[in-house]
Amino acid sequence: MFIDTHCHLMEAHFKADVALVLQRSALAGVSKLLNIGCHLEGSRESDRMCRPEYLEEIRGLLGASVTLPEIYGSQGIHPHDSNQTTDEVMGDFEKVIRSNRRIVAIGETGLDYFYMNQPREVQLSSLRKHMVLAQEVGLPVSIHCRDAIDSLDARKDMLKILAEFPKVRCVMHCFVQDQEYADAVLAMPGGHILSFGGVVTYPSSEALRKIASYVPADRFVIETDSPYLTAQAFRGKRNEPAFVVATGKVLAEVRGVEVGEIEKLTGGTAERFFGI
Ligand SMILES: [Zn+2]
Repeated sequence: MFIDTHCHLMEAHFKADVALVLQRSALAGVSKLLNIGCHLEGSRESDRMCRPEYLEEIRGLLGASVTLPEIYGSQGIHPHDSNQTTDEVMGDFEKVIRSNRRIVAIGETGLDYFYMNQPREVQLSSLRKHMVLAQEVGLPVSIHCRDAIDSLDARKDMLKILAEFPKVRCVMHCFVQDQEYADAVLAMPGGHILSFGGVVTYPSSEALRKIASYVPADRFVIETDSPYLTAQAFRGKRNEPAFVVATGKVLAEVRGVEVGEIEKLTGGTAERFFGI
């Protein structure tokens, strides 16, 4: 099965037709997806959308016999909104996690020094709070990491923080960096993995495809980051989980295997990593 390990179906882009988006995902072979919270409201929605009542709601719209993907969720605050990350919010996240077994990850959290919407210290403090929570509840973390142009500061700070929490497993969501960073992340204790999204399919991403061709078979998953970063085959359209298959096809090409093999590999790794 294909698993979209990172999408944001709670965003306004999906307000009008999320039921159909879910149906198309299942039809494309995406049988599980992680609907990632990235701010306060989004995390609340992530919790709501992975409860059984939500799928019942969707079935009410589309008919009882419709095939839908299994939805899982996460609790987290994106670095862009990291000034929202207080101890009280993290306490609320913990309550949600303990009351909903379909919340299977912390995040997305991380560092974004490209936009630098929040000061570096605020981002670092938010990331550490997420890591502390992950350690406490035993869930993996979905990590966003983006450097400013011609700078390596975000990845340097990231490696430092990952090293502070050797027991926390992280998925490097939308991995776009270089071989050196990939090697450094994969060599750390904790068993981190990389996640490839639409960017790996872009014509200009030759170097990234090379990295994807070398990553150990059990150390990567795939994602869409819907509604953003649509794969080349559908570029210009709003992204949706069904399109994760297009990224799987490109990975199959660069690794010289059948797409079914990528489906099995990445699906199996996602199931083990997130316990889903
Ligand atoms: Zn995201």
